[in-house]
Amino acid sequence: MDIAAGLSAATAALTTVKQLAEIDKALSIGELKLKVASLYSDLADVRMALSDAKEALAEKDKRIVELEAGKSKAPGKSCPSCGVLDYRIVTTAPHPEFGVLGGKNVTRACGSCGFSDTDLEVPK
Ligand SMILES: [Zn+2]
Repeated sequence: MDIAAGLSAATAALTTVKQLAEIDKALSIGELKLKVASLYSDLADVRMALSDAKEALAEKDKRIVELEAGKSKAPGKSCPSCGVLDYRIVTTAPHPEFGVLGGKNVTRACGSCGFSDTDLEVPK
């Protein structure tokens, strides 16, 4: 049961309570039992929706912690192909011509989509 269904059940329960509060005449036992049964059912739905929402929030909190931990220990660049922050250096080697000046061929690959590219990087 999702949150919207829980809110609908809560609204129905409140409507039943309002109807009970507005009754001027004496209710028969049958009518009263019917209203109480309806109220009980609606409140049970509210409880189920809140329980499901609690589990969903706990799963999302766990996922956020996992993502934050992964982000802090693996600060990869944004992949130019897919955009995932998993674009990392695979190899570095002196550039054949500019290596004597400190130039390096740096090859990066994306752990998500497999895209890779090699760039010349020079010391700043
Ligand atoms: Zn990628």
